[in-house]
Amino acid sequence: MNNDIETILYSEDQLNRRMDEIGQELNEKYANSQPLVVPVMTGAMVFTSDMLKRMDFKLVVDPIKVQSYEGVTSSGKIDLIQDIKSDVRGQSVILMEDIIDTGRTLKYLKQLFLKRGAKSVEICAMLDKPSTRQVALKGDYIGFSAPDEFLVGYGLDYDGLYRNLPYIGILKRQVYAS
Ligand code: 5GP
Ligand code: MG
Ligand code: MG
Repeated sequence: MNNDIETILYSEDQLNRRMDEIGQELNEKYANSQPLVVPVMTGAMVFTSDMLKRMDFKLVVDPIKVQSYEGVTSSGKIDLIQDIKSDVRGQSVILMEDIIDTGRTLKYLKQLFLKRGAKSVEICAMLDKPSTRQVALKGDYIGFSAPDEFLVGYGLDYDGLYRNLPYIGILKRQVYAS
């Protein structure tokens, strides 16, 4: 598995240190509220479980599942595969994502929750690729700003694989070009 990685961009240590910082920001912001934490599955699973251990306030976790990627590019259309169970009316929502690319997924989800009556919707993502944005969408808590490469690991997959790598790296082109 490690042989398929070109370069490691963010080591496990770097990810952990950055998550400590984001955790502190969230703890200040949400100390007196009880937000609904919504991980966008499946990519945000690893990041969310690591972040949850750093969140020192009352919260409820309710995942949502969407699909937008085909292979190594965004398909441009978002399918809602599995919805949350909670009523978001009057709730503070924190959307948890692995990576923001075109911005379409999170823009869609943010608008969906606001339309359903959420009091606020904030976005917490481990990575952001600002250079590939196609719709206006800004994250509120971002781990790292990433280059325009196809990344895997730490929840990010290629064809379902590599999510269990403890770091984030660039996938060798020969893996998906062959
Ligand atoms: P967006 O709607 O912002 O274009 O796409 C967001 C989703 O695309 C992410 O949640 C992620 O699943 C997928 N994605 C975007 N860039 C990458 C990448 O570099 N690697 C992987 N594995 N998935 C990506
Ligand atoms: Mg995702
Ligand atoms: Mg994927």
